[in-house]
Amino acid sequence: MNWKMTLLSLILSSGAANAQNAQTDCKELPGISVENMDLNVKPGTDFYQYACGGWRKANPLTAEYAEFGTFDQLIENNNKQQQELIRELIEKKSVPGSLEDQIARLYLSAMDSTARNQAGWQPIRPYMEKITGCKNKKELMTQVAQMQRLGMPAFFYFFIGADVKNSSMNLVQLYQGGICLGEREYYLDEDEATKKVREAYQKYMKELLNYCGYEKEADRMVADVMRIETRLAKASYSATQQRDPEANYHKMAFSDLVKDYPGIDWTEYFRIIGMENIAEINVSQPEAIHEVETVLQEEDLNSLKSFMLWKLIDSSTSYLDDAMRQISFSFYGKVMSGSEQDRPRWKKALGIVESNLGEGMGRLYVERYFPQAAKDRMVNLIKNLQTALGERIREQEWMSESTKEAALDKLNAFHVKVGYPDKWRDYSNLKIGDNLFENIINCSEFEIQNTIKEKFNKPVDTDEWHMTPQTVNAYYNPTTNEICFPAGILQYPFFDMNNDDAFNYGAIGVVIGHEMTHGFDDKGRQFDKNGNLTDWWTPEDGKRFEERAAVMKNYFNQIEVLPGLKANGELTLGENLADHGGIKVAMLALQKAMQEKPLTNKEGFTPEQRFFLAYANLWGANIREEQIRKQTKSDPHSLPEWRVNGALPHIDAWYKAFGITDKDAMFQPEDKRLKLW
Ligand SMILES: [Zn+2]
Repeated sequence: MNWKMTLLSLILSSGAANAQNAQTDCKELPGISVENMDLNVKPGTDFYQYACGGWRKANPLTAEYAEFGTFDQLIENNNKQQQELIRELIEKKSVPGSLEDQIARLYLSAMDSTARNQAGWQPIRPYMEKITGCKNKKELMTQVAQMQRLGMPAFFYFFIGADVKNSSMNLVQLYQGGICLGEREYYLDEDEATKKVREAYQKYMKELLNYCGYEKEADRMVADVMRIETRLAKASYSATQQRDPEANYHKMAFSDLVKDYPGIDWTEYFRIIGMENIAEINVSQPEAIHEVETVLQEEDLNSLKSFMLWKLIDSSTSYLDDAMRQISFSFYGKVMSGSEQDRPRWKKALGIVESNLGEGMGRLYVERYFPQAAKDRMVNLIKNLQTALGERIREQEWMSESTKEAALDKLNAFHVKVGYPDKWRDYSNLKIGDNLFENIINCSEFEIQNTIKEKFNKPVDTDEWHMTPQTVNAYYNPTTNEICFPAGILQYPFFDMNNDDAFNYGAIGVVIGHEMTHGFDDKGRQFDKNGNLTDWWTPEDGKRFEERAAVMKNYFNQIEVLPGLKANGELTLGENLADHGGIKVAMLALQKAMQEKPLTNKEGFTPEQRFFLAYANLWGANIREEQIRKQTKSDPHSLPEWRVNGALPHIDAWYKAFGITDKDAMFQPEDKRLKLW
């Protein structure tokens, strides 16, 4: 998980989007098209197949993909636009040191496979020697801090972000880490599929360690790493626990950290990173940090070195030679996600530019591709959705007046961001040369030093963007009470300037409603209008909310995503509630818009039917079994199929639009439907 994203609620998992690769051109169809549908299936039997069956058949998974959906089609398009921009930058030869020059150089350094393959794994040799040369654990801890400084955290992460109980100020925060498989369940679950992943992980480790010259020690090192990572996994919070803001908040004076966590020299650790005189700190997961202390104490120096070396090697494979990348892909791509073939080189290079100079790239992207008219229409849509959600809040009979008032206050206080930031990030102090690994080290160090400069002991900058403008995604940030829609998502099939309201409310309208609802989902509702984690609900209203939300949790818990594998209704609750609220609020906004400007039937569908078809079409996707297993463990979003077939049975307007009755497989009796918003 990207720690910076921990608190944000997105429309889809950011990892999912980044992991996607190129696919050959797909035919884009404007608006609703029966070609995207499967008319052999009745809407009430399997609405997902009915709405997206044609699309799914026309877009089978290619070898590169673990999952490919309409989202990815758009990402693909954005990638091509960015590639074109970079190609122009390379041709025109920009002023050395300018943003254009930095982007071109970073891209070219990633594309230069001849230089990378010649160097092999040698670029990390000096860093390996620093670890192997440590004479005692104290020296090793210095390397832990040095590696964090270079963007390669070992046992845990640190970051600076809003203090959730004093949201206008930034706070230094420690966060659990150190497990390469990402989720604790991978180390602990005993089902066959998970055991296979663990076995493959150890095989992968051995192969890569052999490649880097550790043939003799590889077996022992693999055992060391596996033992230490399993210990850390046991002490780590699950993805579900990490969604609970109160459970991840343990602010203390720095002096208490020093006193209560004596196994680590914190003053020295932060001094090396570049921070002194820290007053307060949040230990997000105390058990995980305590376990690091125990590991440091109980494991011998050699075992700790194995662990550190592995972190260094594993986190560097994308920046070294092709052989290492291939070994890494065979595990993370093939075994964990089910893809058969790695991304093409240009996509990996673009990914590196996006991760390190993303906002700079976004600046060039919006100048070329984002029309002002799109922003204007979007701002207008957001206003209409805000009005509709306000009406829904007022109409809730289970909420008391005082809670409603506070909810409306929060809704009216939304900080709205559309397209791109008002001020751009300054990269002028970042040095980019011809060597990819050195560039990455420079970028990581720049990132951390920039964060310290901008955030350490400073108030929160509410104008900061947590996504780049070209990103195909959207988010709600509870600590600033903000909703953000980057330029990247404001395109077909989410948004279409040439299409009518039925289409746009069903697509981007639901996305807007989804992000707004996050402000009132099981997590978001714990934050007030100023972004502080504080309970503004009456106890009775809070209880009634929980009872209602439990309907959705239980409903998703019984969904079987693969034979014998159930969805995780608790992990996905916030997202499922946001989909539910998004659909309801967008439908209401459409109905209001139609009172002023009635819509006619088109392509044989009523406006209401087109609304639901546009919504379902956002989630058209094909997905491999391995990816289903991975997402079920880690992703707070439900699988694409269930964002349609799990969400719609709780929407009364959907029954009405398609004449769904109790004879249909997807029918849910009214008293079993979620009644929220
Ligand atoms: Zn979301």
